[in-house]
Amino acid sequence: MKTIGILGGMSAASTQIYYRELCRLTREKLGGLHSPELLIRSVDFDGIERLQASSEWETAGSVLNKHAVCLERGGADLLILATNTMHKVADRIVDRLSIPFLHIADATATAILDRGLSRPGLMATAFTMEQKFYTDRLKARGISPIIPEGDDRAETHRIIYDELCRDVIDVKSRLTYEAIAQRLVDQGCDCLILGCTEVGMLLNQDNVGVPVFDTTLIHCNAALEAALA
Ligand code: GLU
Repeated sequence: MKTIGILGGMSAASTQIYYRELCRLTREKLGGLHSPELLIRSVDFDGIERLQASSEWETAGSVLNKHAVCLERGGADLLILATNTMHKVADRIVDRLSIPFLHIADATATAILDRGLSRPGLMATAFTMEQKFYTDRLKARGISPIIPEGDDRAETHRIIYDELCRDVIDVKSRLTYEAIAQRLVDQGCDCLILGCTEVGMLLNQDNVGVPVFDTTLIHCNAALEAALA
């Protein structure tokens, strides 16, 4: 089994989900006492969030690149970045890296296309919903993402940073997310991308009326498949 390098901490809440899910999947696939070979570099999200808020993406990219290089030097055979948003600077992060990088949007696009779907609603941070780095990557695969209206985008973003990234799960916010997901369905989406690695803390296949694509779970699957290939 290859060693998966996880560049995480963005947030720590979702990196815990990556760890738990990769352990669960490995047990399911290999049985017995098997567990995944992992290296986790969990960064302090406070500093990264400040760089996001002040649009210092180049600096954020070079900080994360240093950690990615450390993961490779430490023995990682492949790298995953445990946040959708910071894929904005994926090219910078993989600079000087020779191990493969599994892009979260590519794994998600493959999962959607495999199910014969093409018009996903996208719930994510404002960066991921409103900037082009993520939606253009989906469009390049023939997928047409639909993003929520302005107020719904703002509330989706706020709940991620004020609650989910701080491990707060609130019943009212779950209802808000369910309502936003339903408005996306009403706009014509044929499935929903949980395009932020924490959104699965509130939404899943049980409370959304269309097929759900949880990027965290999809990313873990893709990483384990690559590790076992
Ligand atoms: N984990 C989030 C994501 O998947 C949001 C936190 C971040 O900005 O990295 O986009």
